[in-house]
Amino acid sequence: MTRQELMTKALALAKQTKAVETGVGVLNRVPELFKQFFPNEKAIIIADNNTWKAAGEEVYKHINDAGINCAKFIIPDEEFHAEWKYIEMIDEVLKSTGAIAVSVGSGVINDICKLSSHHQNRRYLSVATAASVDGYSSFGASIVYQNAKQTFECPAPLVLVADVNVLAAAPKEMTAAGYADLAAKIPAGAEWMIADLFGTEPIIPDAWHVLQDVLDDMLSDPQGIAEGKPSAIAALFDGLTLSGIAMQIANSSRPASCTDHLFNHILDMTHHRFNGKLQSHGFQVAVGTLTMCAFFDEFFKLDMSKIDVDKCVADWPSLESEQARALELFKDFPAPKLGYTEITAKWQDKDAVRAQLTNVKENWNEIKAKLQKQCYTFEKMQHLFKLAGAPTDPSQIGVTRQHLRDMVPFTQLMRRRINLLDLAKRAEIYDTLVERVFGKGGAWEIQ
Ligand SMILES: [Zn+2]
Repeated sequence: MTRQELMTKALALAKQTKAVETGVGVLNRVPELFKQFFPNEKAIIIADNNTWKAAGEEVYKHINDAGINCAKFIIPDEEFHAEWKYIEMIDEVLKSTGAIAVSVGSGVINDICKLSSHHQNRRYLSVATAASVDGYSSFGASIVYQNAKQTFECPAPLVLVADVNVLAAAPKEMTAAGYADLAAKIPAGAEWMIADLFGTEPIIPDAWHVLQDVLDDMLSDPQGIAEGKPSAIAALFDGLTLSGIAMQIANSSRPASCTDHLFNHILDMTHHRFNGKLQSHGFQVAVGTLTMCAFFDEFFKLDMSKIDVDKCVADWPSLESEQARALELFKDFPAPKLGYTEITAKWQDKDAVRAQLTNVKENWNEIKAKLQKQCYTFEKMQHLFKLAGAPTDPSQIGVTRQHLRDMVPFTQLMRRRINLLDLAKRAEIYDTLVERVFGKGGAWEIQ
């Protein structure tokens, strides 16, 4: 299937995005698309200082030349995350102008425009300036609100435009970050398989296949990513777009994100900086992704057909004790109730745990084979990241291995989505896995 055919097929399944235009020099297509999807509306370009230069100015010129009433708003700050104060800022801009947002930027600006447009009951057009995240075409915006990183439900852009020349001119680290964000779908997919197995979040076939069937292919040229090769960057952007479409189909980020992303959420919520700088979404996700590959490697070495289901069920903690554990663990965390809320939503009783463990025990060979087929080993993923220019070690984003290890219990409790660590808790192999990943000879051996 050609790139075009693939995207046409995906768009037929997408619930919210109606057009995706990716190619060399496609910024001049924006006015026509705008007229087609937002007839008789006014436009306002939302950009920051960098993205204004990268593409905003050109898009602004094209739209004005086409006779569309177009204003601009440039976010004044040099460095910013997706935080609530920017939502309020853009809410006000859209409200006072009555215009349709033309978001020009990477993930953060896109997420802000996505949620603010939704607040005004409007759709928007997104122009991507870097192949850095899968959030462009995704359902929902990931915003830090009241100290917690939260996904707010809001529709994806109606139209998405990406000029490959602009993407290729973005800083190399941004493209490498996008590569890691796409690679995260490997372990995230495996964890979705576990949730499916447990019956909590069944796999949605369309959302699965639209992305997972082409994922290996789209991760296959890490060197091209590092070299800024247009074909490699176009393929990466397609992969990120398909990931967003998978989320539209599922109405959830489940197809694209699991524990791999939670390390990033913690680092964002705790305002982690390295050398004075906030670290990108994708670079933080890279570390989470490698960590989950390491956890799966160790998981596959265990023989789950030998687990003592009766003992695991007898030891399974009550909801009250899990709530107490969460409150204690999160007491100094920026969102102290988060673990409590999420474990309350996902805790299951002994009968459910017995059924889940019995299934794993009795079908271990088959389950293991399926999961192994989905996963990349830590070694393979680390090699790909090295070639792509993404982090291969937490120290590259200023996180020590001890810090990483300390985050693991938070990741198990901070989202109601079932993950590998939940399986490990049920099967009483959690401590073994942590010890093997961070202990002597482990992928993240702490010296
Ligand atoms: Zn992501």
